[in-house]
Amino acid sequence: MSNETINSSDYTTLESQVLQTIDRLQPELIEVSRTIHSNPETAYQEYKASALLTSKLEENGYQVQRKAADIDTAFVAYAGDKPSPTIAILAEYDALPVIGHACGHNLMATAALGAGLGLRGIVDKLPGRVAIFGTPAEEGGGGKVVMVQRGAFKDVDAAILFHPSTTNIIHSDSLASTRVNIIFHGRASHGAAAPHKGINALDGVIQTYNAINAMRQQLRDDARVMGVITNGGQAANIIPDYASAQFSIRAADRQYADEVLERFRRCAEGAALATGATLEFNIIEPSRYDNLVTNSVMGKIFAEKLEKLGVEIATEDRFGSGSTDMGNVSQALPSIQPYLAIAPVGISAHTIEFREAAGSDVGQQAMLNAAKAMALTALDLLVKPGLLARAKQEFADLTAKGVVKGQ
Ligand SMILES: [Zn+2]
Ligand SMILES: [Zn+2]
Repeated sequence: MSNETINSSDYTTLESQVLQTIDRLQPELIEVSRTIHSNPETAYQEYKASALLTSKLEENGYQVQRKAADIDTAFVAYAGDKPSPTIAILAEYDALPVIGHACGHNLMATAALGAGLGLRGIVDKLPGRVAIFGTPAEEGGGGKVVMVQRGAFKDVDAAILFHPSTTNIIHSDSLASTRVNIIFHGRASHGAAAPHKGINALDGVIQTYNAINAMRQQLRDDARVMGVITNGGQAANIIPDYASAQFSIRAADRQYADEVLERFRRCAEGAALATGATLEFNIIEPSRYDNLVTNSVMGKIFAEKLEKLGVEIATEDRFGSGSTDMGNVSQALPSIQPYLAIAPVGISAHTIEFREAAGSDVGQQAMLNAAKAMALTALDLLVKPGLLARAKQEFADLTAKGVVKGQ
């Protein structure tokens, strides 16, 4: 079967095979989702989750590459006997420290597994292949940032990921972000007996804060600069010779985020000059999450699939959000990261309520719908003439305009 020979009855058969397989596997998928949910593992420590997912994929005939991109808990699993094109369906499976699966990544992991298993039985008939990407450490560790940098996606034509939320949304923005550690080195002294002999490192941090507060008024509305003091000294009667803080600097696009980052650097440099402390300015490289750009051709296919499954999509497409390393994938190749509701509006991710939703029956239902919609989107991209080419053309146009970077 090829793009030229697929007809609508062939297509309907393939589609119903995918849906029937996912329905048949429902109890097994829910068990995987609940197992990951009750065994939360934080960034780059997701050994149990990646072992569980890779064993299920391998049992079902996927060719599994463990430790993909030299990351212990990353993997890539391939199915299909044609070398290209390749449609990637992505899994996340890291939890948050202390609070557990409060971002619902257990559902993302299992939806990708479900989509992969749903496609397994038909993939050899398709003009291309499917790859399930296990991408660790979304919560700050930048697993996808590293995987993109190391070329893990270079043979991939399109990437699909789903994220749990409180609304069903196809297009979503995420902010380009960077985390920075700033350290001020001063000189300790007795705070009462000889304050004039000290250089106060904590003042460096405080002056940075104040300079940022002044800068904010002159920033665009989408910019965010936030931070915490990670070391403010040891005792009230010692002039601190060491103080540190961590900041997150974000904006709607990388160019402006980097501009704000430079202005933030000057705030810290100014504080160093004013206090006499020495500044160390350390950008945490894997934390450089780019803004997400949704491929509209792929988004439209996914929306059609969801609607056929009876899932209503919110009319308000975009909403204010955080940052995701899926942004870096979307800057390298045509990508989507739609959101499916697992909890009522008003409940925020990264809360105990959202964690409970990620383990609930509603959460499992969203996961199964996501598995089906992702599998059918991949199917369409592979068999429906011109769709993948249109998705890639849109990406090429955005690359030419400088909206995305390209590979
Ligand atoms: Zn999160
Ligand atoms: Zn998340």
